[in-house]
Amino acid sequence: MMEKRQELFTGKAKSIYATDNDDYVIMSFRDDTSAFDGEKIEQLSRKGEVNNKFNAFIMEQLANAGIPTHFKALFNNTESVVKNMQMMPVECVVRNVAAGSLCRRLGVEDGTELTPPIFEFFLKNDELHDPMINEYHIETFGWAKEEDVNKMKELTFKVNVVLTKLFADAGMILVDYKLEFGLFKGEVILGDEFSPDGCRLWDAETRKKLDKDRFRQGLGGVIEAYEEVARRIGVSL
Ligand code: UDP
Repeated sequence: MMEKRQELFTGKAKSIYATDNDDYVIMSFRDDTSAFDGEKIEQLSRKGEVNNKFNAFIMEQLANAGIPTHFKALFNNTESVVKNMQMMPVECVVRNVAAGSLCRRLGVEDGTELTPPIFEFFLKNDELHDPMINEYHIETFGWAKEEDVNKMKELTFKVNVVLTKLFADAGMILVDYKLEFGLFKGEVILGDEFSPDGCRLWDAETRKKLDKDRFRQGLGGVIEAYEEVARRIGVSL
């Protein structure tokens, strides 16, 4: 059993703790829920536990599909043991259906199917409101090496194949999602989390939103929706 030590970082919804093994840290999912780059923050009871178990399930599915991830094991209800990576400060987004910032930016109608799916990079920087960037910014400013950028793109699309099917089989549309990668012993691996906090999921029949847009838009039933998604894909809560 790994021993939990001092807190290393505190993010908006998760905290990272050291362990007695330098190669591993503990990722702790809090109930804090934020939107609009941290402008709206609330505590949603059970969210930490739901997202921790949801993320563990998804990371295991991705690992089974050959995608390298940081996930090692659940530590307790709200915490997981993950590899201690050096994160790259970029967010990788894939969009299968138009929503959110894409619609605001380009005037595309919400719900438009995107074929082929669109890939976008954003800089992870709340003060700058996560601006959209491209490969040239990443290379020139040294946020990641070219080969690692290519790997992130390749893995992000691989995730799309696995997860669009996983959610479709459970009656949902994976509209879009955000991934973050890091380096562990020189290898690009998936980090951060995959949960309804960082993706858009719609019911395939009714198009009901089952993700963090319920929180962003004040629709209510946020955790109930996360739990419904978890139940439908077979996460045991
Ligand atoms: N996303 C995220 N964190 C961010 C920005 C976006 O998890 O800092 C996710 C978001 O939940 C959605 C996808 O990435 O699933 C695309 O988000 P978008 O660019 O449409 O931005 P938003 O409308 O959320 O501001």
